[in-house]
Amino acid sequence: MTAIETNGLRKRYGDDILALDGIDLRIEEGEIFGFLGPNGAGKSTTINILLDFVRPTSGSASVLGMDAQDQSQEIRRRTGVLPEGYQIYERLTGRYHIEFVAESKGVDINPDEILSRVGLADAADRKAGGYSKGMQQRLTLGMALVGDPDLLILDEPSTGLDPSGVRDVREIVHEEADRGTTVFFSSHILSQVEAVCDRVGILRQGELVAVDTVDGLRDSVGAETTLRVTVQGLTDDAREAVRALEGVSDLQVEGETLIASVSDGAKTSVITTLESEGVSVADFSTEEADLEQLFMSYTGGETA
Ligand code: ATP
Repeated sequence: MTAIETNGLRKRYGDDILALDGIDLRIEEGEIFGFLGPNGAGKSTTINILLDFVRPTSGSASVLGMDAQDQSQEIRRRTGVLPEGYQIYERLTGRYHIEFVAESKGVDINPDEILSRVGLADAADRKAGGYSKGMQQRLTLGMALVGDPDLLILDEPSTGLDPSGVRDVREIVHEEADRGTTVFFSSHILSQVEAVCDRVGILRQGELVAVDTVDGLRDSVGAETTLRVTVQGLTDDAREAVRALEGVSDLQVEGETLIASVSDGAKTSVITTLESEGVSVADFSTEEADLEQLFMSYTGGETA
């Protein structure tokens, strides 16, 4: 089943602002989908339409097979949301927050189990106003997990988290996806999207400019890999043979290390060429172009 589908989704605010300009998106059940875009690209508007907090100017959206506008109550019941900048209730305990969501969704859960999943077991009875920013973010994630949702919508879930918190979020996202939950994940921290998501959509000024796997995006922008090869007995002939290979666009030598910019298919030919020239290869490593560079190439230099 398709978990999220939008067709020609447009949203205009007043006469001047076209927040979404015809978004066609299809996310399958069980997918972890990363939604990326610079500030103001339209990410929150899209999420708000999926949850019927905002109505589209034209086009349609369906969530878990239901119309986003006609069946919003049922959609919200089956969806866990971590909204951007959610305000917690300062005077109430962590446990109360979880119980509150369970009650409003009409589900029977063990709050301690959820609190311990998000690393707040010891703070369950403390007032959330005294939580650190990262703990508050963990609490909102816990609230999103209440009732085993079929869809998790996480808007910037790593905000305020330390590295162990970021790892916990990643683990929870994978656990949820493993049991069939679809995860729609927006983030500015591109390396985290890369580490977690099956596919990525890049939004720019209300238009979806790319939807693909991270590897697919790399291929389509012709992103190059940096190959470092530690060698012994490098000769001028060997170096020139590598330089002449198709797919090698840059080559530098630093002591016993060759540093080459190569397209995907050229990695092995560099190694085999060196060996056939009698150079012994002691070690090699590759560095892929990261999502930050890819993102820049799609959004014309605007950072997320
Ligand atoms: P961010 O990463 O900063 O949260 P975003 O990608 O979520 O950005 P949106 O919040 O969806 O972007 O905003 C898209 C565009 O719509 C922006 O130009 C924004 O100023 C405008 N916009 C959003 N909400 C409203 C509103 N209620 N009234 C008028 N304009 C709005």
